[in-house]
Amino acid sequence: MSYIFENGNSNKDQQKRANNSKYSNWMHLILRRSKEIGKVELPICSIILDERGRCIGRGVNRRNINKDPLGHAEIMALRQASLVKSDWRFNECIIITNLEPCTMCAAALIQARMGKVVFGAYDKKRGGLGGSIDLSKHKSSHHKMEILGGVLEDECSQILQLWFKKLRTQK
Ligand SMILES: [Zn+2]
Repeated sequence: MSYIFENGNSNKDQQKRANNSKYSNWMHLILRRSKEIGKVELPICSIILDERGRCIGRGVNRRNINKDPLGHAEIMALRQASLVKSDWRFNECIIITNLEPCTMCAAALIQARMGKVVFGAYDKKRGGLGGSIDLSKHKSSHHKMEILGGVLEDECSQILQLWFKKLRTQK
């Protein structure tokens, strides 16, 4: 339940601000990298932090560049981080990404036993962690991940909207 405080902010707003400040520095970095890859690909970037908060993997969308249907930013980041970790299990790790993972990536994160997933914009069409369907809560999910969506949501949505708008005008 959210109720209004004297200063006019609801509980939910305060929670949102706390989450935003915790991950906003990483999300700003992700948005900068997304803009860069946005020149050739859908602007999506993911990073993986280990239990000490160190970045052990990063990836951008490389579907066109690599001609790879699996070339989503989350998969790229998982591949790099598993090399660094020399392990396929990520229970103590956090992945941060600007768009809600799709169903393929959500399933891959469950397979990787990711500890926590932080994302910016929800994807109401293809999101696999609540935007469209929520695989993390599906009965097929043998691993429960902590999910935090909506971090710097407005900024994250804006970059994607601008990218699609540009794509439409180029056609
Ligand atoms: Zn994906």
